[in-house]
Amino acid sequence: MRQAFEKGADVPKPITLRFVSKIKRAPGVWEFCWRHERRVEFNPGQYADFEVAVLGAGGGRSHSESRTFTIVSHPTETTVRFWMRYEQPGSPYKRALMKLVPGQSVGMTAPIGTTVLPPERTRPLVYIAQGIGIASVLSPLAECVRQASGGSMRDVTIWWIRRPDEQQLLDTNPHQSAITRRHDIVRPQRLDVTDVVAGLPAHPLIFISGTQYFVAAMGDDLQRAGIDRGDIIFDYYEGYVEL
Ligand SMILES: Cc1cc2nc3c(=O)[nH]c(=O)nc-3n(C[C@H](O)[C@H](O)[C@H](O)COP(=O)(O)OP(=O)(O)OC[C@H]3O[C@@H](n4cnc5c(N)ncnc54)[C@H](O)[C@@H]3O)c2cc1C
Repeated sequence: MRQAFEKGADVPKPITLRFVSKIKRAPGVWEFCWRHERRVEFNPGQYADFEVAVLGAGGGRSHSESRTFTIVSHPTETTVRFWMRYEQPGSPYKRALMKLVPGQSVGMTAPIGTTVLPPERTRPLVYIAQGIGIASVLSPLAECVRQASGGSMRDVTIWWIRRPDEQQLLDTNPHQSAITRRHDIVRPQRLDVTDVVAGLPAHPLIFISGTQYFVAAMGDDLQRAGIDRGDIIFDYYEGYVEL
């Protein structure tokens, strides 16, 4: 899943981003904001790898490490933003990001990923997101609002399995008008797939975002309930046991 930064004729050069600021969006969830030196092309809903210098153990020689983050900003914005779950002490990579001061740079690979809006604007969208997997919904929501200014709104349903203190991650989002139906499943409550299936509009495209285990299990449940695999987009936030 991760893209490498090796030198080679076919490998695009990483994009340089300058750190602008970070803001705490919810307990343990930080939004990072970056300025780009050249415009970053991507489709709303895509992700990229971000490479930073990490200090070696015991303050030794630094090396580069990268992690994947979903872009929560819209391509038309002048900055790139992503959300990172950070709980102390955090990995050396995350500690390095938390210590950045404005102006410092990171490398970013070209964004990729299939958690993007389908071209047919009439196709209903259903997002099933676990915790900060909701990050995958934000840029597409902004795009839905942008597209709606020239026509009708898309039909968007959100099923969000979240922690009790994460509500503001979506409540403060400026593009909430793009959400047709929102269902919050607050932990320890569990999402019942039969509820999702019972409320499905005709011919939906279903996105599942969360840990590898969650996405795979939810995808299996949906297929057992008769949903075609081709109508599901699997969006794995690898690296998390719990989101
Ligand atoms: C497509 C995609 C999109 C993603 N989008 C996001 C996003 O928007 N926001 C976000 O926050 N993350 C996102 N992720 C996940 C992110 O890339 C990282 O994998 C994740 O944040 C874990 O990174 P880490 O540095 O904390 O853990 P890592 O150091 O990579 O370790 C992974 C896990 O292994 C365990 N572990 C590793 N080393 C040790 C050790 N020495 N001691 C104890 N435990 C250890 C920890 O439990 C840790 O959680 C995404 C991943 C993918 C693939």
